[in-house]
Amino acid sequence: MNAGDVGEFGLISRIVARVGPSAGVVTGIGDDAAVTALSPGMQLVTSTDMLLEDVHFRRAWHDPFLLGRKSLAVSVSDLAAMGAVPRWALLSLAIPADLPLEFIDEFTRGFLSLAAEHSVVLIGGDTCASRSGLVLSVTIMGEQLPGRIVRRSGALPGDEIWVTGTLGDAALGLRLLEDGFDSAQPPKSAQLANSAEPLNNTADLACPLNGAEGLVSRLLDPSPRAAAGIALAVAGVASAMIDVSDGILADFGHIAKLSAVGGCLQLEQLPLSENFLAVAPLDMAIRQQLALSGGEDYELCFTAAPAHHKKIIDLMKKSGIQATPVGIVTSLPGVDVLRTDGSCYNPPVKGFNHFT
Ligand code: ADP
Ligand code: MG
Repeated sequence: MNAGDVGEFGLISRIVARVGPSAGVVTGIGDDAAVTALSPGMQLVTSTDMLLEDVHFRRAWHDPFLLGRKSLAVSVSDLAAMGAVPRWALLSLAIPADLPLEFIDEFTRGFLSLAAEHSVVLIGGDTCASRSGLVLSVTIMGEQLPGRIVRRSGALPGDEIWVTGTLGDAALGLRLLEDGFDSAQPPKSAQLANSAEPLNNTADLACPLNGAEGLVSRLLDPSPRAAAGIALAVAGVASAMIDVSDGILADFGHIAKLSAVGGCLQLEQLPLSENFLAVAPLDMAIRQQLALSGGEDYELCFTAAPAHHKKIIDLMKKSGIQATPVGIVTSLPGVDVLRTDGSCYNPPVKGFNHFT
């Protein structure tokens, strides 16, 4: 059976049936609007994101369960970047009539699995038919005390620039998929060799496809750094923060612009994963380009006074997440990328932009 066979209300009830009772929600799904109560003294922090078929995801690559998880993960990541605690979500779907019901069921299961991991309650949404592909829109609401919310605009000259986790993994995962790697199959170097436009000459791969699964999973099932973002906000150590969705160069650029500062990023200090080092082409230029400007890592980039250095290392250890200092905020506008020898690196591509 497909979406068209059960209609709007059939679809809504399939989704709603999977939402358990939710403590703390005054009026949940079913009325004209949901009613919730913020914790005393908290401010509401809200963000919304759209995921469009063939723009943000491909149905051929994205298992519906993981797509459900990712559609919420990108929103949890936005709240993490503000240091806010995620609480509630709205899910709006435009569904092609020929979409199989199993797809919707698996999508919902995935969405609710990530929701449960972050204590987010689905409190409503909208469902309609689409004539051109699947469209997903998620609105997330969270809360934080006014003095703890971390904005893009607070970076000061002399602050250290930090990033959580590792960079470039999702972008390399995307390249592997584009080059024909099939994540449902066990990794085989043959998959690359057979692709129409190989990633590179297979001889250029340091260790063909070891770790490829891990890279593809960074793209298809990202882990938003909620615990890290909230811990930084509560400790009051981050002066500015953003989530890295378009590459650290572009995303730190947003912090710099809104803080009216500049920055120096140290190319060789960008944290790279073992999977990335195992699979990435040996060509250092491509590797650095992916780490600087590859999208969709959903790590956090933040700035902090050098006095907080040790505290940050300890805090991140407690959140189970690695954080690496990758540069310094400067007073002159513009973001420079420097090599260890002090020379300037000129990146060929700055970051992802939907309209360029
Ligand atoms: P309205 O006509 O007022 O827009 P709907 O019939 O669209 O109401 O929705 C009925 C109820 O189901 C509402 O509470 C709405 O929030 C909820 N709902 C609709 N679509 C979804 C969805 N995709 N996910 C979660 N809740 C949904
Ligand atoms: Mg509606």
